[in-house]
Amino acid sequence: MAGIEPQPGIMDIALYVGGKSSVDGVSNVIKLSSNENPFGPSPAAQDAVRRVVHEIHRYPSTDHAELRTAIAEVHGLQSSRIICGVGSDEVLQFLAQAYAGPGDEVIHTEHGFAMYAILAQSVGATPVEVAERERVVCVDTILAACSDRTKLVFIANPNNPTGTMIGLAEIERLADNLPPQAILVLDGAYADYVEGYDGGARLVESRQNVIMTRTFSKLYGLGGMRVGWGYGPQYIIDVLTRIRQPFNLSSVALKAAEAAIRDTAHVEKSREENTRWRAWLAEALAEHGVPSDASTANFVLARFGSPDEAGACDTFLQSQGILVRRVTGYKLPAALRITVGDEASCRRVAHCIGLFKAGAR
Ligand code: PMP
Repeated sequence: MAGIEPQPGIMDIALYVGGKSSVDGVSNVIKLSSNENPFGPSPAAQDAVRRVVHEIHRYPSTDHAELRTAIAEVHGLQSSRIICGVGSDEVLQFLAQAYAGPGDEVIHTEHGFAMYAILAQSVGATPVEVAERERVVCVDTILAACSDRTKLVFIANPNNPTGTMIGLAEIERLADNLPPQAILVLDGAYADYVEGYDGGARLVESRQNVIMTRTFSKLYGLGGMRVGWGYGPQYIIDVLTRIRQPFNLSSVALKAAEAAIRDTAHVEKSREENTRWRAWLAEALAEHGVPSDASTANFVLARFGSPDEAGACDTFLQSQGILVRRVTGYKLPAALRITVGDEASCRRVAHCIGLFKAGAR
């Protein structure tokens, strides 16, 4: 490499590839590639943004007290144990920075979120990838991979891009059998889609080695605002707060998130529509000979006969102005991850996959 060398290992990091947002020559794309809320941001969040615009010459809050209070009230949590980040990505980054370094190991699963390995490598730690069982996170395999160098174990529950999840009893068994120096990170980016699931909050409250992360990017429709949060034991939150930049969240993002989390009508509608159209989409795909695992999130993982067939379907969908996500980088080359859109988008993507399966190319 030309120029001044970065820290060892940095150039080994695979670049994160996000979902596509445009197709050449097509103006009105149906974007089902990044698991965004098809109903957009809550109207209350939009109003809050308009109201705060006149105050953006001021620095934002450093302690995020109002947003933490809102999160605590809505989810029944203790606000002092919440930390807010620029997306949940940033909270995951705080954890890597604070708890892992050269010589340490960070466990993530085979089809887990790509950022886990990237964050481990970014702090010089070694990512350790463990197998899943039929696209479901497997506690026994994770425990078998633990060593006295394991510092963090990242689990997304529900998992992205498989959409599958494991039960709280299994998570509890994982937490209780980790080596003493390891922290379990329960990534709940999609937890809000699961009725009756607290994302692991009660587990956090009864353990010293579990933290959960959540996001405003999915159900709350604020992907562009970049707001996420973590809920953990007080001593971990106190550690993470030391490395958090004082003004990490903009005043606009803070106000939007606070309004979004209190807009229960928008949240409920988004969740209900997702549940309804996710089931419809999975069934429609199955009728076209495209199976998927029972998804608990806001996407389905459509499985094709081969990587070539998945690639050809992706290309065909793009020609029809529909963007979905290839998940080759997640070791699922024969699958496409399709965000559950609104009714029209679900009908359109299912129709086009039907055409593809019937021979259209
Ligand atoms: N975890 C998982 C499992 C995700 O899929 C994502 C978003 N793709 C994130 C975390 C990060 O989300 P954000 O930074 O937008 O909160």
